[in-house]
Amino acid sequence: MTVRLASQLRPKFWQLPLTELSDLEWEALCDGCGRCCLHKLQDVDDNQLYYTDVACKLLDLETCRCKHYADRIQYVPDCMSIREEGQAVYALLPSSCAYRLRNENKPLPLWHPLLTGSSEAMHALGISIRGQVVSEEDIQEDEIEERIIQWID
Ligand code: SF4
Ligand code: SF4
Repeated sequence: MTVRLASQLRPKFWQLPLTELSDLEWEALCDGCGRCCLHKLQDVDDNQLYYTDVACKLLDLETCRCKHYADRIQYVPDCMSIREEGQAVYALLPSSCAYRLRNENKPLPLWHPLLTGSSEAMHALGISIRGQVVSEEDIQEDEIEERIIQWID
């Protein structure tokens, strides 16, 4: 469970540049949609990315959160840390992602939990992966190309 200390978050910190966020504010910016934890395929000819509805084995498909976030690298060594990657990482994130939006100096969407006070609007609008994906543990590896989806980007 993540406990946020509201007093350590500056008012409307999400409007600040990403480089000015504290560690706590950086983590609080995440909407918890789980989209970045879906496997993607890349076309070798034109580098186009395609999302699949196949989730990383550590993703809790109900809460849409990582089951071992703090020590996830032990289990999934190639899990990316957005803050530690260079600018190129933002293009790998879904267009709805709060980090990608703020990196482009765009506002958060109106459904973002920081603006609504809960995750309900995000789930209700189908932004989160809840109810829409399967775990990689429940499919065969050669099935993944059949699992490309259109509802993300
Ligand atoms: S896509 Fe972005 S906002 Fe959504 S869970 Fe991943 S990092 Fe957080
Ligand atoms: S290890 Fe956790 S944060 Fe990384 S992709 Fe898997 S579920 Fe997401």
